[in-house]
Amino acid sequence: MKPRDRLRIAMQKSGRLTEPAQELLARCGLKFRQSRDKLFCFGEGEPVDLLLVRDDDIPGLIAEGVCDLGIVGRNVLREFQFSNVEAGTGLDELRPLGFGHCRLSIAVPQEDAYDGPAQLGGQRIATSYPGLLGEWLRSNGVDAKVVMLAGSVEIAPRLGTADAICDLVSSGATLVANQLREAAVVVESEAVLAGRRELPADERGEIAELLLRRLDGVIQVRDSRLILMQAPRHSLAEITRLLPGAPVPTLTAVDGAPDQVVLQALCAGSVSWRQLEEMKRAGARDMLVLPVEKMLA
Ligand code: ATP
Ligand code: MG
Repeated sequence: MKPRDRLRIAMQKSGRLTEPAQELLARCGLKFRQSRDKLFCFGEGEPVDLLLVRDDDIPGLIAEGVCDLGIVGRNVLREFQFSNVEAGTGLDELRPLGFGHCRLSIAVPQEDAYDGPAQLGGQRIATSYPGLLGEWLRSNGVDAKVVMLAGSVEIAPRLGTADAICDLVSSGATLVANQLREAAVVVESEAVLAGRRELPADERGEIAELLLRRLDGVIQVRDSRLILMQAPRHSLAEITRLLPGAPVPTLTAVDGAPDQVVLQALCAGSVSWRQLEEMKRAGARDMLVLPVEKMLA
């Protein structure tokens, strides 16, 4: 293969991961010019180009060295690693990216009871993920028949071609529409940045490191919230315990109210309504949760 001095990232051409992946790269300061065939996008500022492909092809392109990095579901990456052991062992999940959340789950007909993996023994399970399902069955000591289907897995039980399925679930609406019920989670998935275990030893390695640093900054800011509130001094310990990411809050005295403080804290992760209500019960008031635009320690 010809040596390259530009980093090449593979991402999904059109699908659920396309928009959030593009947005993430834009936040990292990368700009691309799309070519006429819409397969290759030339990077305008940094020496980083994009290859737009079907998500299933991404792990193979990285393993073969056609691309250096890829944005792909953990489900697709792990499936590749289980079904192409030799090529797959060279690949690594470099960062979880916090979008494209779903799970690969086993689902059974609604009317069937499910009381554990052993019940799947001898059954036919339809899936597009034979590697991951096979590994789950082995590690649970279940001997079942894996029926490989490329798509429309969810209708297999109704068609009588399988007794259960193993497919991606996010809201569960598709399962309900097909009279199925989620029984066991095989893999919790989200989009990840995938790459070879060893970054390239040339300029591309340096560009990849720069990109990883920017990505870490972008993810940290995206997942951070600034919380402000007024609280009674005596409940500070309880309120601090409720803050995501165990931050050390900054306290400011309130004029004329010695038992009250204004609390400010940078939280790792979003703050739920439930957490806010618990803080309110502990005496907090005037709570504000703000997104963070930029951060420099
Ligand atoms: P391609 O044409 O690229 O092969 P696809 O149909 O295989 O597209 P999408 O349906 O766009 O792929 O899903 C891409 C990824 O999005 C999945 O591999 C998974 O990681 C993630 N995802 C998140 N939620 C869901 C969901 N409810 N169903 C399927 N995939 C989901
Ligand atoms: Mg696909």
